[in-house]
This record gives sequence, C-alpha cells and structure tokens, in this order.
Amino acid sequence: MFSRYLLAGCVLCLAALPALSDEKVFRAGAAKCDVTPWLGLSLSGHMEDRIANDVHDALYARCLALDNGQERLAIVLVDNCMIPREVFGQAKLLVKKRDSLPLDHMLMAATHTHSGPCTTGIFQSNPNARYNAFLVRRIADSISCALRNLEPAHIAWGAGSVPDQVFNRRWKMKPGSIAPDPFGGTTDVVKMNPPRASADLVEPAGPTDPELPVLAVQALDGRPIAVLANYGLHYVGANGAEISADYFGMFAAELEARLGLADARPPFVAMLSNGTSGDVNNINFREVGTPQGPYQQTRFVAHRVAEEALRVYQELEYHDWVELGAAQQELELGVRLPTAEEVKRAKETIAKAVGPVMKTIEEIYARETFLLSKYPPKKKLLVQALRIGDVGIAAMPCEVFAEFGLELKQKSAFPRTITIELANGYNGYLPTAQQHEWGGYETWRARSSYLEPQAGHIMVSKLLELFAQLK
Ligand SMILES: [Zn+2]
Repeated sequence: MFSRYLLAGCVLCLAALPALSDEKVFRAGAAKCDVTPWLGLSLSGHMEDRIANDVHDALYARCLALDNGQERLAIVLVDNCMIPREVFGQAKLLVKKRDSLPLDHMLMAATHTHSGPCTTGIFQSNPNARYNAFLVRRIADSISCALRNLEPAHIAWGAGSVPDQVFNRRWKMKPGSIAPDPFGGTTDVVKMNPPRASADLVEPAGPTDPELPVLAVQALDGRPIAVLANYGLHYVGANGAEISADYFGMFAAELEARLGLADARPPFVAMLSNGTSGDVNNINFREVGTPQGPYQQTRFVAHRVAEEALRVYQELEYHDWVELGAAQQELELGVRLPTAEEVKRAKETIAKAVGPVMKTIEEIYARETFLLSKYPPKKKLLVQALRIGDVGIAAMPCEVFAEFGLELKQKSAFPRTITIELANGYNGYLPTAQQHEWGGYETWRARSSYLEPQAGHIMVSKLLELFAQLK
C-alpha cells in the first residue's frame, strides 16, 4: 500500500523523503458490516421477551483498525444490547487465523441499543444460535475489511462535553417510599427510575460523566476515514419491538452524512461507543416530561452528541505517527450465589406462577435465582487496556457505574482516557460496593447483576495497572 502511495505522489518530492526503512508509517482503515437480523428473534433489553416485528434502522458492526508499523489494533462496536464472551471470542479467533491479529489487540463491544437481537440469555429473552453464528462472522468481517482498507493516515483526539443529556437514574428517596425488593427485602434506600418530579425524591445516588471524547483519523489528503466518539449514556429508546441501533446508529448516520464523501471507497465510518453508563439514562427526574413521538428524543440526543463531536472534530490537531499498545488480563471474580433457602423459596414462587411467562417482578427474579443457582462460584472475565498515543482506553465487560469511569479518568496514566463498557463479554451490572449496600434494581441478584460487590474495584485497579504498563 505504502509503495503504491509513493508512486502516485510527486516524483520531485521523493528526494526529500527519508529512506523507507527509517520511516514510521501510520495507517488507518475502517469498515462497517450489516448485522441486522431477520424478524421473529427475541430482542434483549426488557424483562419481558419482545419479538422483533419490524426494522426501523439497520444494525452494524463498525470497525476502526490502526497500524503504526509495529502494532496493529482493531476496535469493533456492534449494535447490540450485550454480547457474551463466547461470540466475541469466536470472532477474535477467526480474525487471528485470517489476519494474524493477536487476540488481545482486538477490542469488541456492544453499543447497548435495547432494540437488537438477544445474543445471551437475559431475563425472559433467549439467543438464537443461527444469529450468533452469523454475528461471529460479521464481527470478524468488519475487522478484516478495515484491515484491508488500511492506508497512510493522520490521527487526532480531543474531548467535548454534553452535560444536559445524562442523568443518574438511581435516586435516594424519602423513607417509606420504596417498595420491597423482588425477594421481599425492605433494605433498599435507592430507587431506579423513580416517578418523575415525585415529592419523594431526595437526591441522585451517584454522578454522571458528561465527557465526549473524540478520536479521528484522516487520510493524508484530509479525507476523513473514521471518527470514534464515546458517551456515558444508556440507550434512549426505540418503538415497541422494532429493530433499531438507537441513538448510537443515528449519531453515526448524522456524522457520516455530514463528513463522508458519497460513494467513497473506502467509506468513512463514524462510531459511538458506550461509556460507563450502568446508572445513567436520559430522563430528567426533577421535571415532568412532555409526551414525545417515536424516536423523537432518540434523534434529538443523537443530534446533540453529533453536533458536539463535530465541534471537537473541527479543532483537532493531527499526529503523523503515534504509539499503539494493548494489554489484557483475565480476572476470576466471585459470584453472589443464592443460598439453598433462597433457591427453595424461588422454586415455590415459580411453582405457584401461571407460566410459562413470568409476569410479576417476584416471579421474574425467582426464575433468575433458580438459573443463577447453576452458576459456578467464580466467573472468569476480561479487562483490557489499549494505548493510542496519549489516549488510554479501558474496556470492561459490564454495565459499569459512572463512578468507576470517573475514577479511571482521574487516576489514569494517560492524559486522555476513554472507558468502553460491555466490551469483550457480558457480566451484568457493575455497581460500587457502596451502591450494593444502597440496593435497587442494578444490585438485585439476577443474570443481569451477579458479581461480588468488590468486582468493580478489582477491575478498576487492574485496569490502572495495565495503563501504567502501556505508558
Ligand atoms: Zn441497559
């Protein structure tokens, strides 16, 4: 690729160029592969099972590949709610075999749309084996295509902020205003998604991270190759049981329309990764909401985030070459297994339910208790750190509370830090130990929340170690 580029360039300039062997060439490539499912599959993201009945907008696996002549990295974002380690792992093995990319140099994450096909059993939704096999291949294809699109490039990074679209969704409430938890306990002092403008609201139980980091690569002639942004906000919402990439897809479409060249080959790819947003959504609980049409708020948020990303993009200063690095660590963390007594009670609740669909929250969590009782006492999971110049990227396989993202940014060895959640697997919510004590939905034991209360603290300190190694 490089020699062809030189040949196409000005002959008079060749004398001024250093010898090829001394030159550090930085290259970037991007690609997106359609991963939209067929209708009739379960969608994940709700306690009841929703069956896909329409396609509002297509789902993609979007990949950015970087190569500095010494290291190659690939980051893939997949329009999905959560993807298990097995699916990502199989895709990585395919790429390793096909393109010789080391396994730990690939970061794969779900965007967290709640309107994508289920790929791992969660509440009452179950994965489809044929779709998972298709997804493995398409995730791998997105990397292979991005690697094939590698071309000499410049890279830049910066950050903006969108503080008005992130709200902590967990609230401390006035005593006596919180219903018992699904196991009959009355110790919760925090409520997730309380009624808006309720007189019982005291204060949010945690912070938000409004930062919008932006990483961009351009071809040497200034043609945009890719923009990777990151925002700590849960999904915004789609309509009923339609398939949609939510605001993540709309953000990408807006940037691609405004920065990309029509029919350009290779294409310009925009991607929005999900920051630490396990306890953050788009609802301003202090105010009564106004009724909105389908996708109205989703489009609005996408536009707000895209506008800010574009503002940052216009001010970026590009580097000709940067260091790249990757490190990951497998951790073995404890599972909050139910006791024999809790399993017995859960079985009684299930036996009394009409079924097969669990309807009450007690029934749903009784079923989760039974399913979790089959889990091993410890689970293995991956934390991963990437280095791109002065940027450190921390990847965790959970729905991570914003406090952890802020801590990683504050203690990071790098001047700029990006946190990507739901990466390289899925291991449920990741509240802090204090938030576990306060209780509420994200701490209720289920396949959506089962790691030991110290899990997040262990992951953050390991990630900070990996950052220090890469620096
Ligand atoms: Zn979610």
